[in-house]
Amino acid sequence: MSTKPLRRPASKELSGREFDLIVIGGGITGAGIALDAASRGLSTILFEKGDFASGTSSKSTKLVHGGLRYLQNLQFAVTLESVRERELLEKLAPHMVWRLPFVIPQYRGKRFKNMKVRAGLSLYDLMAGSGKNGSHKRLTPAEVLSACPGIRVDGLLGGLRYYDCRTDDARYTLEVIKTACEHGALAMNHAQVVNLSRRKGTVYGVEVHDRAAGAASANFTVRGKVVVNATGVWSQQTAQLSGGKSLLEVAPAKGVHIALKQSRLPITDAILVDSVHDDRFCFAVPWYDSVIVGTTDTPYDGDLDNVQAEPEEVLYILDALNAQFPFARLTLGDVTATFAGLRPLVREKGKGSSAEVSRKHSLITAQDGVISIAGGKLTTYRPMASETVDAVFQRLTTLDAARKIVPSTTDKIMVGCEAGVDGLEQLSEFAQGAKLPNETLALLYSMYGKRATEVVALMKERPELGKRISVGHSYIVAQIVYAVQNEAACTIDDVLSRRIRLTITDNQGALQSADLVSRVMAQELKWDERRRNGQKDWFTTRYKRG
Ligand code: FAD
Repeated sequence: MSTKPLRRPASKELSGREFDLIVIGGGITGAGIALDAASRGLSTILFEKGDFASGTSSKSTKLVHGGLRYLQNLQFAVTLESVRERELLEKLAPHMVWRLPFVIPQYRGKRFKNMKVRAGLSLYDLMAGSGKNGSHKRLTPAEVLSACPGIRVDGLLGGLRYYDCRTDDARYTLEVIKTACEHGALAMNHAQVVNLSRRKGTVYGVEVHDRAAGAASANFTVRGKVVVNATGVWSQQTAQLSGGKSLLEVAPAKGVHIALKQSRLPITDAILVDSVHDDRFCFAVPWYDSVIVGTTDTPYDGDLDNVQAEPEEVLYILDALNAQFPFARLTLGDVTATFAGLRPLVREKGKGSSAEVSRKHSLITAQDGVISIAGGKLTTYRPMASETVDAVFQRLTTLDAARKIVPSTTDKIMVGCEAGVDGLEQLSEFAQGAKLPNETLALLYSMYGKRATEVVALMKERPELGKRISVGHSYIVAQIVYAVQNEAACTIDDVLSRRIRLTITDNQGALQSADLVSRVMAQELKWDERRRNGQKDWFTTRYKRG
């Protein structure tokens, strides 16, 4: 079961090279495009200005879902496509797309709402073609209480249980990038595209700034027959790098989540929690060893690179939780972490009013040849990618009529695990004698799939790597070493925010782990004291603010 490490290419090995396709942006959209293109035989390189998934793709609600909200807004086509993708992704990445029951509690006095929800769920089942085991069910009040202890019982009539999936958004994105690299793509994080090179009005390449090279960095250029802009909320800025006008208009919408300890909200199922301030609802989702709750949804016009949860946004979520779980008496002190992301809501300039800005994606080919793709959702990254690469092939055939169009096969490409193999059983056999508790093995399998044996192998060689990174969490030191050696982690933040997810669930735990992570990374990456301290200072300043 040998796999290739995700290797960060050096700028000097790329400088001056030509690729069929340059992808700008290493969120789930860019990752999906790189995989689709590489598996269709295109020479492909992806550049990401921060870390892979450091934009919106690490700050979602972590659901692979049809989207009840879309159904509520009568966006049937979006829901249908999403439900189908959910079913497929469960098969392609069963180790990290986990089926999860969701509870919708029902209360007296809300007859119309209760009926509407039931009708919506029946439609949802129909779209998924759910059999007996997958379709929604009615719950008695006792069953609701057992899944959601502490829930408000006053007027509780029972509830409905349906199924969707949750995932680890950042690790899923990373896994798609790794799979793209297995198909021959190259991917470089901390590599910002600072200019689009244009000749006779057409973009033929990009200028890249290597942000990980420090003072030694010099910009380099790479040529691409086609350039795809998959930079989410930065799409408009990126499109303008060629000096032309952008056809895209991005209207970012901010979404905040909070994390709580499971002991403070001991739910076994995810639950839909009504807001007390408007007619929206939040999801409370058990996730790793915490519960994450969100999201808010407000227009945003601040700094795209520095999005923070504001106290009133956190209170909006806490108010909803306290109304639903009155005995929990949750306060700001219970919030172990917060995170905020931006939805890239887009429209083509001149088409539609801002009220029509939809959550569907937009795919636009500009006059300079750059193809921009933005919007959509994590769940639908795969069809978005195949549609984009179809457009890439269209452009390639205008440049070279002999170029053959290859169809997408990503509906059959496994992402991070092998079909028909019980990977967890294999891992347990491999780990015999390594003294790892079952819960750690299950965690490693869910995070690394077929590559989990490589993390355990590190630990077998150096048993001290089996130590925990942070009290109260199952993450082990071997994961830091693995992140640097095999997953292109370059900073403390890369490790603590996206290779493992400590900043998402436990801000204090992450701050306390920064020293250990910096020491392990310094050893692996030969950092001197100055660089190590600089990294620590940056991380501490960033996360002390919450
Ligand atoms: P991003 O992830 O933002 O990626 C764009 C990347 O481009 C960034 O990493 C950025 O650093 C990079 N970049 C920018 N400029 C440059 C440059 N010049 N050079 C190189 N790189 C550059 N969807 C679901 O399916 N399920 C959910 O539960 C869900 N929950 C959500 C909750 C919230 C609060 C939000 C905001 C969204 C949610 N979504 C969800 C939607 C989903 O998260 C997004 O649609 C998706 O992550 C967008 O991915 P992206 O790759 O387009 O953008």
